Amino acid sequence: MNDKKITIALSKGRIFKDTLPLFKHADIEPVEHPEKTRKLIIETNQADVRFLIVRATDVPTYVQYGAADMGVSGKDVIIEHGGDGYYEPLDLKIANCRLMVASPIDEIDEPKKLRIATKYVNSAKKYFAEKGQQVEIIKLYGSMELAPLINLSDRIVDLVETGNTLKANGLKPTEHIRNISSRLIINRASMKMKHQKIKEIMNALEEAVTNKSQQK
Ligand code: AMP
Repeated sequence: MNDKKITIALSKGRIFKDTLPLFKHADIEPVEHPEKTRKLIIETNQADVRFLIVRATDVPTYVQYGAADMGVSGKDVIIEHGGDGYYEPLDLKIANCRLMVASPIDEIDEPKKLRIATKYVNSAKKYFAEKGQQVEIIKLYGSMELAPLINLSDRIVDLVETGNTLKANGLKPTEHIRNISSRLIINRASMKMKHQKIKEIMNALEEAVTNKSQQK
């Protein structure tokens, strides 16, 4: 990690798009857009701040090991990662969705021991354990909606925003596990060593989140 710079890990797509206006409020603007460049390190208008473009599931790892001082990560990803090595001081209230159990619309009888296909193994295990329900979890890396259609599983656990993806695949949301949003995460050592600059950015982001929710 560059000692003087503040390095911020972000993922492309939804998180980058929704985070940009918040960082703009902190007077941090990328000099290039990640959708328009192949570069993975993007400088900003502030000489001592840069963005790292990484996979969403890798953001906590970069922050945990201090390769990035801070990052923006979905609560779903943080739960699966385990939350070690970083603070989670701020709910950015972006990329909001729900983690849900979904079942086939046309299911007649509930199977005795459910098979659950999901990418969110930790969240799913915890949810069913707390309910005292024995299930078999099948780990998938994507396209979970397919699993019940071809009898790989009886249910899925997935993120739901509008519910359109479930509906298009003959599924319906049946149990709400938790609400999900993106969080600011900060490496523990960076929080101490670069406290002033990090606090400055955190305060500006917090103000941006508050302003945005007051506008609604
Ligand atoms: P929807 O059809 O609007 O319910 O969106 C569901 C699809 O978008 C599923 O494939 C989800 O995994 C994905 N999705 C929804 N919200 C999010 C989010 N906040 N972060 C990542 N993926 C999401």
